[in-house]
Amino acid sequence: GYPLSAEGILVSGGSMANFTALAAARRAMTPGNVREEGLSGPDRPRMTVYASDQVHSCVDKAVDLLGIGTNQLRKIPSDDRFRIRMDELERAVASDRAAGFSPAIVVGNAGTVNTGAIDPLDALADFCRRESLWFHADGAYGALAAIVPELKPFFSGMERADSIATDPHKWLYVPYEAGATLVREPGLLAAAFRKFPEYLAADPESPFPGPAWFAERGVELSRGFKA
Ligand SMILES: *Cc1c(COP(=O)(O)O)cnc(C)c1O
Repeated sequence: GYPLSAEGILVSGGSMANFTALAAARRAMTPGNVREEGLSGPDRPRMTVYASDQVHSCVDKAVDLLGIGTNQLRKIPSDDRFRIRMDELERAVASDRAAGFSPAIVVGNAGTVNTGAIDPLDALADFCRRESLWFHADGAYGALAAIVPELKPFFSGMERADSIATDPHKWLYVPYEAGATLVREPGLLAAAFRKFPEYLAADPESPFPGPAWFAERGVELSRGFKA
């Protein structure tokens, strides 16, 4: 359900797909230039991230590696069907704002790996718009089920996510390794990752301009062929 202008990159798997999307979110959701200024310092936002207590451990890892810190990852209780509780999420965001934190990112599960639980993605999309938060959907397992017309309604709201992580090496059954990051707004991946060494300056006379610089959409420069 994304617009054709959305961008993305194939990566090694769901962990890297979530990391890549959350790096774009961190860059987009901090004032100034977090890539230069970092997240520490008295005037820097104390960023907080929200996900249910069922979220995959790779989100903990990403929050750690992005310098946000896992103490700032709020694990919101889930209901008896392992879906995030919206009332608890709203309460956590409000109390963090009152305490001087900067709520920034909500990660919704589009199919958890343990139970297949799908968070209420429509409610999360509404909430994130209302609160000006980045909405990321971890669909490493489940998102691709939205291709099946009978299953698509379960994922309603995912099309409004700012970013989505998914794993072709799960329900598309392609060989390892294949994950994918999708970001709705063009340019936000490049804002998070563009950094060209001089020796890679584009040759204006090159007959092969290429459709995209993949190095500005993720961590890696040299990498295996993924298509
Ligand atoms: C599998 C999975 C991941 C991790 O993906 P890898 O490809 O193993 O790195 C993350 N989130 C969810 C929901 C998953 O199912």
